Amino acid sequence: MVTDIRSDKETLLRQTIARFVKEEVLPVAQTIDESGEFPRELFRKAAEMGLFRVRYPAKKGGAGGNNTLFCILCEELAKGLMSLGAITAMQCLMGSEFLFRFGTEEQRRKYWEPNMRGERVSGFCLTEPDAGSDLGNVRTMALEQPDGSWIVNGLKTWVTLGAVADHFTVLCQTRADRKMRGLNFFLIERTRPGVALSHKFAVLGTRNTQIAELSLTDVALPPEALIGEKGRGLPNLLSILAEIRTMTAALALGLSKAAYEASFQYARERVAFGRSINQYQLIQAKIAIMATEIWAAELMLYKTTAMIDARKPCMREATMVKYFATEVACKCADEATRILGAYAYSMDYPVQRFYRDNRFLLYGGGSHEVLMGVIARELGFV
Ligand SMILES: Cc1cc2nc3c(=O)[nH]c(=O)nc-3n(C[C@H](O)[C@H](O)[C@H](O)COP(=O)(O)OP(=O)(O)OC[C@H]3O[C@@H](n4cnc5c(N)ncnc54)[C@H](O)[C@@H]3O)c2cc1C
Repeated sequence: MVTDIRSDKETLLRQTIARFVKEEVLPVAQTIDESGEFPRELFRKAAEMGLFRVRYPAKKGGAGGNNTLFCILCEELAKGLMSLGAITAMQCLMGSEFLFRFGTEEQRRKYWEPNMRGERVSGFCLTEPDAGSDLGNVRTMALEQPDGSWIVNGLKTWVTLGAVADHFTVLCQTRADRKMRGLNFFLIERTRPGVALSHKFAVLGTRNTQIAELSLTDVALPPEALIGEKGRGLPNLLSILAEIRTMTAALALGLSKAAYEASFQYARERVAFGRSINQYQLIQAKIAIMATEIWAAELMLYKTTAMIDARKPCMREATMVKYFATEVACKCADEATRILGAYAYSMDYPVQRFYRDNRFLLYGGGSHEVLMGVIARELGFV
């Protein structure tokens, strides 16, 4: 729908993923969503196609892509099945980026490379029962032992892929005074004694993302489990935040387009009072607004990813587009449920899925209430 000028590489990737979605994802999207299971077969196919490598440089074993290509990938997958988009985003970005960027050669070989091949599934644990937006309140403690090893105790919640991942990048506090400088990331394998799945959530949307709570009880970690330089957990997290926000915007854009296309097609086919409903101005207005806002979100998104790829600071833009694209997705899904009338209420049509799945976008990368504060600060409010 939105015409754009893109490099050949971007167009080729978009077409390849769109074909994969049409042939392999859409025919099973409904069944997979209903099952609530981790979509192992699609995950395997995505790995086989090299999708998990897209954002990483070729000389390190990636596919030579960048953040723009990664967002195109997320957008197209989310257009087919948001759960698959979210799982891919977790596997490639939050579950891999810390290892890639801040990890040792050994950590990259042992965890990042298998992530890229889809041989291991990875998760990312920030949130705790009393620390969501407020990460300064993280209470999972990693206590350093005299020999440099660590003992970890705590509870991590809302972990996407928490029920199935093989290893996790986990934010822990390492200082008794709980200063921000004490926040550090650790690589924790599920098989470590003391790691337990304490709860699996039944969720509203993105039903295949296996969201769970993990308890960590006296988990003994070797010194090499620390990811990155000691004391750099928070700055390292902040350094990938713009990428997390644009990725979320890309997922939102994919969902918006799916809702738009379902609405457009239905409005053409449905007849009421002797006319196709797309003849009614109020329906036209809904679709026109959807298309306009999708275009705005798309322009914002790929302008911002280009800034990230050019290594320009863009926290303000990334925050704005995460907020805007997500709100557009919520609105498009809502309008689609109106345009499809009663059929939107049926579990037989995908629009109900768009309506449920869009809620997932509201939280990751910052809630919108928190993001408003970030934008205001970026604009110069103290
Ligand atoms: C589907 C899903 C998947 C997730 N996956 C992961 C994952 O893989 N790993 C992970 O670590 N976490 C994950 N999370 C958790 C997510 O990161 C948190 O939900 C998010 O950080 C918000 O925290 P909270 O839900 O505890 O809300 P809270 O921080 O408790 O906020 C509650 C309300 O208060 C508002 N609020 C809080 N602080 C402020 C403020 N300063 N100003 C104004 N309003 C404020 C919020 O906007 C919100 O409306 C996931 C969540 C969901 C729903």
